[in-house]
Amino acid sequence: MKKTIIVANWKMNPTTLREAKTIFLGIKKQAVKLKKIKTIICPPAVYFGELKRISSKDKILLGAQNCFEQERGPWTGKISPKMLKTSGAKFIILGHSENRKAGENDEIINQKIKLALKSDLNVILCVGEFERDEDGRYFDFLKQQILNALVGVNKNYLKNILIAYEPIWAIGKNAKEIITNIQLQEIVIFIKKILVDKYNVNDFKDVKILYGGSVNHKNIEDLNKTNADGFLVGRDSLNVEKFGKILKVVNDN
Ligand code: PEP
Repeated sequence: MKKTIIVANWKMNPTTLREAKTIFLGIKKQAVKLKKIKTIICPPAVYFGELKRISSKDKILLGAQNCFEQERGPWTGKISPKMLKTSGAKFIILGHSENRKAGENDEIINQKIKLALKSDLNVILCVGEFERDEDGRYFDFLKQQILNALVGVNKNYLKNILIAYEPIWAIGKNAKEIITNIQLQEIVIFIKKILVDKYNVNDFKDVKILYGGSVNHKNIEDLNKTNADGFLVGRDSLNVEKFGKILKVVNDN
C-alpha cells in the first residue's frame, strides 16, 4: 500500500523531555491507527533514547534535524550521523533553510548527505528558493541546489532520499504567502524530472517529493490534493490535536 510520508520537524522544541514525551505519546496514539501514513518525528536528538523506548516499532520513525560532516574525532559539541543512527534515528533532515542561513553551504550539505547515507540513514534534503522572480530564475536556483547537494551520490541511494521542497517565502511565522496547489504541482514535477534525468530513472514514482512551508490542519485538505508524496510540518507538529488532524485528513483522503 502506498503510504503518504508526514514529517514532524520539532526544531529546538519542546524545552523539556517531559513535554517531548507527552507530545510524542499524543501523536503516537493517533498515528498507530492510521494505515496509510508513514509518520516521522524529528525531535531534538537528546530526546532520542527515551522517545525510541516509547515509540511503536515501525509505526513512528525517528528523524534527526542535522548532523556534523565528520564521522568522529576532536569536534567539540558535534554529533555524527552514525551516532544518530545508533541512537534510534532512521531519517535525517539536511539542508534546512535555517541551517543554510546559519552558514551551511551546498558543499557541506553534500558531505553530510554522503556520510548520512553511508551511516544507513534516509535523507530528507530540504531545498527552496528565497523568492519567486517573474523570469523563473528560481527554477535554476532550485536545480542547482539539488544537483550540488547530490554530487557523487550514487543511484543506489536514490531510494533513501526524499526531497523536501520548502520555499523560504512560505515557511514559518514570517511566511509572506501560502503556496498554491498549481505552484506546488509544477515544482513537484520539476524536481522529479531533475532526479529522473540525473539518475536515469524510468518511473517518476521512484522519486519522492515532500512539501513543507506553513502546512497546517486547515490547509492540509487542499494541499493533499496535489501530487506531493508527503509533507514536512513545522509549527503544527508540536500540537497533538493539530498534527493529529493533519495525519487523519491525509489518511482518509
Ligand atoms: C520548516 O521550517 O521546516 C517548516 C515546515 O515550518 P512551518 O511548517 O512552521 O512553516
